Amino acid sequence: MERVIIIGSGPAGLTAAVYAARANLNPLVLAGGLYGGQLMLTTEVENYPGFPEGIMGPDLMMRFREQAERFGARIENVDATSVDFSGTPLLVRTPDDEFSAKTVIVATGASARWLDVPGEERLRGRGVSTCATCDGAFFRDKHIVVVGGGDSAMEEALFLTRFGRRVTVIHRREGLRASKIMADRARSHEKIDFIWNTVVEEAIGDTHLHALRLHNLREETVYEYEADALFIAIGHTPNTGIFNGQLDLDPAGYIDSPDGVTTNVEGVFVAGDVNDIRYKQAITAAGTGCRAAMDAEKYLEALEFRVAMEQVP
Ligand code: NAP
Repeated sequence: MERVIIIGSGPAGLTAAVYAARANLNPLVLAGGLYGGQLMLTTEVENYPGFPEGIMGPDLMMRFREQAERFGARIENVDATSVDFSGTPLLVRTPDDEFSAKTVIVATGASARWLDVPGEERLRGRGVSTCATCDGAFFRDKHIVVVGGGDSAMEEALFLTRFGRRVTVIHRREGLRASKIMADRARSHEKIDFIWNTVVEEAIGDTHLHALRLHNLREETVYEYEADALFIAIGHTPNTGIFNGQLDLDPAGYIDSPDGVTTNVEGVFVAGDVNDIRYKQAITAAGTGCRAAMDAEKYLEALEFRVAMEQVP
């Protein structure tokens, strides 16, 4: 029987692991096949305190991981495939094992969204991507398109200027959702231009992307637009599939929590983007990871005291 199982290994899961390990709870972290969370797919992180020069996302996550392991967290790169929170102990299954636990911290994060247009899936990895860090270098001196108007889109566009000869941001409205500093940086970059009020309706290409079908929503025109790469940066979907029917979810699919830590199931705690529709920052995720581990520790202490008292003759 595990005392704490942590599902997820982004900033929330690994911060929970650091705190739980330092509290001698010997946590088991089911890190996922693609461990490390969204920061593994990002470039330079400039707003994580303690790194005045900035740090690359994957480097930051390796440090989180080393820190958790230093205090004894056991980290396995496997996915949790189902859970049963209907009784005690709590059950968490992976493809090869079933684990039982007194407490579970859910820190499964949120995943990048796709456009769901024709050609997009077929051309994934052949010009269509949601990860500039992973795929940007394939498009040296090419014309790159980024879709989206938020901070992610600006960050991707700025990063991609290192490779592309030109980067075009296509956004469905005229105003950007991105923070002013990111928007200003993108707008003033000589390699970046914008196409407003426009959506991508198709990714076109045989073996590789070579064009997009664009729809200008204001002028109601549809036209083909040459592009070598399409990076989609339109937000995220919470990774809560395995908790359907087990935990209360809000209408957008995020885990419901009255206080950002507890859930409707006793002993199950939540941390990070899987409960955060608003901030989605590494630092906020890390903060809730800390809170979830401290609350799990308190809960365990009370639970184990109660059980010990029951055994006193
Ligand atoms: P976001 O803020 O939700 O922005 C998503 C963008 O994609 C919006 O501009 C949205 O358009 C557009 N969009 C959504 N669905 C679309 C569709 N089907 N077709 C076309 N466009 C679509 O998501 P995000 O940029 O990933 O940012 C999420 C959070 O992380 C934010 O709080 C952000 O500040 C934070 N973040 C911060 C940094 C940083 O500070 N360095 C970097 C990345 C992310 P509308 O504007 O019309 O809704």
